[in-house]
Amino acid sequence: MAWFKKARKKIKAPTEKPSRVPEGLMVKCPGCGQILYNKDLTTNLNVCHKCAHHFRMNATERLRMLFDDAWIEYDRGLVSTDPLGFTDTKAYTVRLKAGIEKTGLKDAVITASGTIDGVRTMVAAMEYEFIGGSMGVVVGEKIARLIERAIESRSPVIIVCCSGGARMMEGALSLMQMAKVCGGLARLDRERLPYISVLTDPTTGGVTASFAMLGDLNIAEPKALIGFAGPRVIEQTIRQKLPEGFQRSEFLLEKGMLDLVVDRRDMRSVIANALRFMGAKRSEPARVAEAETAPAAEAASDGPDSPGSNVEPRPL
Ligand SMILES: [Zn+2]
Repeated sequence: MAWFKKARKKIKAPTEKPSRVPEGLMVKCPGCGQILYNKDLTTNLNVCHKCAHHFRMNATERLRMLFDDAWIEYDRGLVSTDPLGFTDTKAYTVRLKAGIEKTGLKDAVITASGTIDGVRTMVAAMEYEFIGGSMGVVVGEKIARLIERAIESRSPVIIVCCSGGARMMEGALSLMQMAKVCGGLARLDRERLPYISVLTDPTTGGVTASFAMLGDLNIAEPKALIGFAGPRVIEQTIRQKLPEGFQRSEFLLEKGMLDLVVDRRDMRSVIANALRFMGAKRSEPARVAEAETAPAAEAASDGPDSPGSNVEPRPL
């Protein structure tokens, strides 16, 4: 029965020649197939020059894009304690450790304050590379604290969503964060302070079902995947074929789920305009005017306990 068995030797795959192009120098655009230099892509805010495909952006790049200059980061040290002792194919602690090593962050969000076109603003930017940008206790707590700070300092809030939803490994505790953050946003609303939600690819699950859709203005990036459950689950449930472009920004804008779809390269100016429209004032001119009218007070406050750069935010 030799003819049942492969008597001949297997064909050998040619050993790969080492590429002369260094790793990470170029990337192929999934939108138009063009080969792009990573360097050019970075200078263009990770947007393809040819077809305007929006590549994913990490949380730090996002803050750099939005703020005028340096920002103050909050609660950097908060880390998950694995409250359920959760293990699936890997232990949750192992996943956390991998996420920390990969991103240099302790969890999937950076919260910070800085100025956007002169307006003092609180911004939370989610990091997809950290366990899919999922929202666990730490993400919820950091965002809730940011909102408290915004209320104290009378500043607007912006949350840049990029998340797969609530974090499975923290079970009901992650689901509770939806209510906690929404409660904070309700308080912000009662204080008449603006909240802008920026939805990027992807924004799904518990994040869409809570704070991502609660903005006074909900702005999305082009062609971002935004939804609650995935299209396959929906198709199987309703037993219908889903329309073209389902769960993408443009489709949602047409159906009234979003207020705007904005190219990333215009995002900063659109947000700055919106903040001004909603009554936010630039903090710089007020500071200059005060310095001019009260030079004595300025000189007096130049003591050892006033760290010059750490100016208190102005009320709106
Ligand atoms: Zn392209």
